[in-house]
Amino acid sequence: MTSQVDGVYYLTGIRWKNNEPSLRVQTDETPSAVLVEARGLNLRFRTDVEKQGRCIGRTERSVDGSAYVECLSPSTRGRQCERCQVIDNVSAANMHQAHRKGRDSIDQRMAAYLSHPHRLYVAIFRDGSTKVGTTRGSDGGQRLVEQGAWFAKYVAHVEDGFLVRELEDLVSKSIDLGQAVDTRKKFAGHLRGQRNSELETTLKDLTFEVGKVLRTQEIDGWGSLDETWANPALNDERWMDLVAYPGALTRGAHEFTIHSMVGRLAACDRPGFGETFLLDTQPLLGRPLERGDFELDKLVLQESLF
Ligand SMILES: [Zn+2]
Repeated sequence: MTSQVDGVYYLTGIRWKNNEPSLRVQTDETPSAVLVEARGLNLRFRTDVEKQGRCIGRTERSVDGSAYVECLSPSTRGRQCERCQVIDNVSAANMHQAHRKGRDSIDQRMAAYLSHPHRLYVAIFRDGSTKVGTTRGSDGGQRLVEQGAWFAKYVAHVEDGFLVRELEDLVSKSIDLGQAVDTRKKFAGHLRGQRNSELETTLKDLTFEVGKVLRTQEIDGWGSLDETWANPALNDERWMDLVAYPGALTRGAHEFTIHSMVGRLAACDRPGFGETFLLDTQPLLGRPLERGDFELDKLVLQESLF
């Protein structure tokens, strides 16, 4: 078979809107990123290991919320260029230390971003991992779908992003509840997850514990919420019977069609296979993907080792 390269493209991120994911696609020819709906998207590519990757850009926060900033530089530090990585790191540090430093000692754009109502939530993932987290805004938002939570409960409406982080830290410390869940656990949860009823019970018990911590505080500026959230994929049968994609996306030639996504994990079909494969899209981000007529890597399905 011929190996004709028809150009290179880069996936530089996932954007969620109204619970639907789109992929950001960039090429060398048209530098400006295009958003393509992920659902139903067919990707056929070969990974170019010689060519340098593209920086996946950065996030800027201001009074209007957070916005993606596209970058045209090659990636030199992981998936980003040095400049974007430094900006993102400073921004993350500012955001997470804002409540300890005080609003006068952080960047004013960040202070404006945080001077807005936030909510505190507790979330559970399919493997049973739990976390406490915060999201900007009084309703809606994409934070939970972005992370791939399975069930969640909004527990408090808080006047701003400074106080919500204070409460988040307090909950973390009081009941030893983390603020992040590793993607490997999220991935495993889709293959060998707990039953929904079990997850709901765990979340209910946890919400009760968090409520106790919050109620014993003498802090003003927040009110309790009791709002349940569930992932839109909850009743999607494809997510009940997944097989880990058996190939390495960082090399070789692949083809799959995205059926749907939970966070950065995608349920995909591959021509010639009846299974629905689960894959993590992150290794593809920023990587040069060649379009063309390539022979695909053979996938060898094995019995699960676990
Ligand atoms: Zn950059």
